[in-house]
Amino acid sequence: MSIVVQKYGGSSVADADGIKRVAQRIVNTRKQGKDVVVVVSAMGDTTDDLRDLAQQVTPLPPPRELDMLLTAGERISMALLAMAVTQLGYEAQSFTGSQAGVITDSVHGRAKIIDITPGRIEGALKTGAVAIVAGFQGVSQDTKDVTTLGRGASDTTAVALAAALGAEVCEIYTDVAGVFSADPRIVPAARKLDRVSTEEMLEMAASGAKVLHLRCVEYARRYNVPIHVRTSFDYVEGTWITPESEQDGASDVEQAIISGVAHDRSQAKITVVGVPDKVGEAARIFETLANSEVNIDMVVQNVSAASTGLTDISFTLPRDDGQGAMSTLARIQDEVGYDKLLYDDRVGKVSLIGAGMRSHPGITAKFFTALASAGVNIEMISTSEIRISVIVAEQQVDTAVRATHTAFDLDATEVEAVVYGGTGR
Ligand code: ADP
Ligand code: ASP
Ligand code: MG
Repeated sequence: MSIVVQKYGGSSVADADGIKRVAQRIVNTRKQGKDVVVVVSAMGDTTDDLRDLAQQVTPLPPPRELDMLLTAGERISMALLAMAVTQLGYEAQSFTGSQAGVITDSVHGRAKIIDITPGRIEGALKTGAVAIVAGFQGVSQDTKDVTTLGRGASDTTAVALAAALGAEVCEIYTDVAGVFSADPRIVPAARKLDRVSTEEMLEMAASGAKVLHLRCVEYARRYNVPIHVRTSFDYVEGTWITPESEQDGASDVEQAIISGVAHDRSQAKITVVGVPDKVGEAARIFETLANSEVNIDMVVQNVSAASTGLTDISFTLPRDDGQGAMSTLARIQDEVGYDKLLYDDRVGKVSLIGAGMRSHPGITAKFFTALASAGVNIEMISTSEIRISVIVAEQQVDTAVRATHTAFDLDATEVEAVVYGGTGR
C-alpha cells in the first residue's frame, strides 16, 4: 500500500475542534486505502508559551532542560490526535521522536537528523494503524538525551520520515493555502503559486519565508520527496514543490521570471569599526565567530581609507546569536586591534527570488528602483544566481516587500490569500 505523510502545523491543531477536524482529514485519507503517517506540531502557540515560561524561571535555561520542556508540546498534540482518530473508529498510535527512530546529533536546540530508523512506525502501519509522530524532536545518538531540531522543524521531521518510508508524497498542512508570491499576512494581494522548484523554494526558505523549514526543503531535494503545501482548513489544491527538471516544460512557457518576495525580521547587523587593513584580519574575525557556532549571512567590507589604513567590516547574523557574537568579538579586540563594535538589531532582509533571473537582465535595477520610489534605503546587498537580497531598516520591511511585489507585477487582481488561523507569532 502506498504511504502518505501528512504534517499538521500548530494552527491546524490549535484547540480540541481543530484536533477533531484534522482527525477527520486523516480518516478520509485512510479510507482512500492509503497508509497514513502523521507528523504533528504543538498546539497553537504552545512552544512560544513554554519558552516564555522557562524565561520566567531563568534567563538562561540549560539547553538540555529547555529541549525536555519544549518537546512536551508535541507530546500533548500527538496523544490527543491519536484519541480523536480512535474516536472515529480507526486505530491510531502516537510516538515520540525517539520512539519513531529520529536519531540526531547532540546539539540541543538545533540538532541535525543523522539517521531515521522507523521500525515502530512500519510496525504500526502493518497492523493497520495510523502512526502519529511528534514533530521537531529526536534523540541524540551519543548522549541518549532528547533533542529539538530548531523552530519550525516539524516540517523537517515529516520530510525525513517520508524519505525513510518511501512515501509517495509529503503533505504539509498549514494556515494558508500554499506557498504565495509573498507572505499573505503582509501582502493581501499575494498569489498562490501552483508549483515552485526545489531550488527556488530553498532560496525562499533561506530568505525567511517560514511556510517551509529550510532543512525540510534540503531533505526533499536530496531524497527526491515531492512536497504538497496546503491548508487543513479547506480542500483546495496547494503548491507542489518539485525539482526544476521535473516541472512540465510545455505549460511553463509562461513561467514567471520572478516567483516571489521573501522577508526576514530575525536578523541583526554587527559592524567592526576601524579594522587594520592587512592580510588575515577578516579571517581571524570570522574564524572566531565560526568557532562559537555563529552563522554569518551577508558580509560587506568598506574600501580602506588610504590615509588611515583602516576599514569597517559589517555582517548580518541571526538576532538570537547577536549578543553571543558581540561578546566573542570583544574578546579579540586587542589581538585584532579594531576600534569599536556597533550592534543594530532593528534591521530586516528583503529578497527577490526567481529562476528566470538567470536569463533576464535588468532585474536588479528594477528592484532597487522600486525600493527607491518607496523611500527605502538599502544598507547591504547580496545575490545568488536566482536571488537578490537587501538589508533595510526593520520598520521599512513591509513597505519594501509591497513595493517590490507591485513593481514585478505579482499582485493578484482578486484576493486569493486567506490566512485561516494562527497568530503568526
Ligand atoms: P505552521 O504552524 O503550520 O508550521 P508557519 O507559521 O510555520 O505555520 O508557516 C505558515 C506562515 O508562513 C503563514 O501563516 C504565513 O504568514 C507565512 N509565510 C511567509 N512567507 C510565506 C509565503 N511566501 N507563502 C505562504 N506563507 C508564507
Ligand atoms: N512546535 C515547534 C515550533 O513551534 C515545531 C514546529 O511547529 O514545527 O517551532
Ligand atoms: Mg512552520
